Amino acid sequence: MSDLLQNLRQRTDETISQLRSAVVEYKSVCYASSLGPESIVLTDLIWGAVPQIEIFSIDTGRLFPETHDLIERLQVRYGRTLRMYYPDAEALENWVGENGINGFRDSVEQRHGCCGIRKVQPFRRAIAGHGAWVTGIRRGQSASRALAAPVEWDSIYGLHKVSPLLDWSEKDVWDYIHSKGLPYHTLHDRGYPSIGCAPCTRAVHAGQDPRAGRWWWERAESRECGLHPRRPVPAAGSHVPGVSA
Ligand code: SF4
Repeated sequence: MSDLLQNLRQRTDETISQLRSAVVEYKSVCYASSLGPESIVLTDLIWGAVPQIEIFSIDTGRLFPETHDLIERLQVRYGRTLRMYYPDAEALENWVGENGINGFRDSVEQRHGCCGIRKVQPFRRAIAGHGAWVTGIRRGQSASRALAAPVEWDSIYGLHKVSPLLDWSEKDVWDYIHSKGLPYHTLHDRGYPSIGCAPCTRAVHAGQDPRAGRWWWERAESRECGLHPRRPVPAAGSHVPGVSA
């Protein structure tokens, strides 16, 4: 077996083991798919090896058409339907009525308001009643994500948070996708490493921060969607409560 396949086998086995342990420990576990490359890996592992975990995604109403195409391609490949959650229609109508159709560009507060209605509220409905939710975050994605632990108590949402891809590199993720010929978002091949809503995502240049194309008009500190709030990055030697060293 080549080194590449051996590495992937080891990563895969560890991840499946973590997912199965989460099911044993927390009984009802769900996975919030962002439909990014990490989601493709986790969808393949969950639907292939740990189908007790419910996978869902959120349709904010402002997604790229290519995102819907990807959902369809995943459903065809696995012969399963991805559970979709949508924003509350009345709350969204009121928000747009007060702030305008693209009011999320006017201030960070308004942007968080839009993400709150289109993403966070549907997410809260989706995880309600579950003992744990799975995320696809990796340590290499940002300084704040580097501090995450494989299993944490998520005090914001009131359930456990399981992150089984923390130690995967970006190369591991893409090696896995290509080695299995999995469907992935076509915009990744057009300069979009991180993809969210269409009006809030643009392509980045080679060498730029992969998340530089998300909410690019804002200061870097505010560029999270609300599902993974940034934690403070400690100075060397200091300690952030609840986070393993
Ligand atoms: Fe609204 Fe943009 Fe957030 Fe999507 S990413 S929910 S359009 S502010």
